[in-house]
Amino acid sequence: TEATTDALDFGKMDGLLPAIVQHVLTGEILMQGFMNAAAIKATLQTEKVTFFSRSKDRLWTKGEASGNYLELVSAHTDCDRDSILIMALPAGPTCHLGSRSCFSDDEHLATPVLQGLADTIHSRRQQGDEGSSYTAQLLQAGIKRAAQKVGEEGVEVALAAAAGDDQELLNESADLLYHLLVVLESRDLSLAQVLKVLLQRRQA
Ligand code: AMP
Ligand code: ZN
Ligand code: ZN
Ligand code: ZN
Repeated sequence: TEATTDALDFGKMDGLLPAIVQHVLTGEILMQGFMNAAAIKATLQTEKVTFFSRSKDRLWTKGEASGNYLELVSAHTDCDRDSILIMALPAGPTCHLGSRSCFSDDEHLATPVLQGLADTIHSRRQQGDEGSSYTAQLLQAGIKRAAQKVGEEGVEVALAAAAGDDQELLNESADLLYHLLVVLESRDLSLAQVLKVLLQRRQA
């Protein structure tokens, strides 16, 4: 449901509602804060996610000092209207400690699977451990090898689909997605950039 300040249940927590911010492209949970009625109004009006900061004891627009704003895409409330879900596009790292999400961890396990795989591929490139990592080997071999693999895996997906072999289709689809992420990494492009194209098509 879309959030308006009407009929929200502010009674349970002294005028505050927990607000969860999710990356509209990658699905990552970026942070959690609290909103009062004024914060929700400011968020909807400015389209920059604004909380009521309990430590600052005032409205706080995320990014007001760092520039790392959270651009509002949509706002929603839950079944009993006592919490808020914000879908947002972050202008930079959301956490003041520098990571993309306040819930980040080193193993990428707090990250949705596809974005987590993209992160793993990116770190393989940084580590450059061609001895033990197929991903590092692919990245080292250059764009032509990875691009060829995308072509091959795409054909395998098509053949499995045409043959009606669902298990094969799932496995080849996973291969295709993996190799597509490697191609994007070799071109210094991100999964989020691809998903942004899809978001723009949704809104068009
Ligand atoms: P910013 O809103 O990004 O300009 O950051 C201003 C200040 O807000 C920082 O110095 C932190 O004290 C605090 N802060 C920023 N981001 C977060 C966050 N994700 N969670 C909690 N506090 C934050
Ligand atoms: Zn609820
Ligand atoms: Zn944080
Ligand atoms: Zn395959």
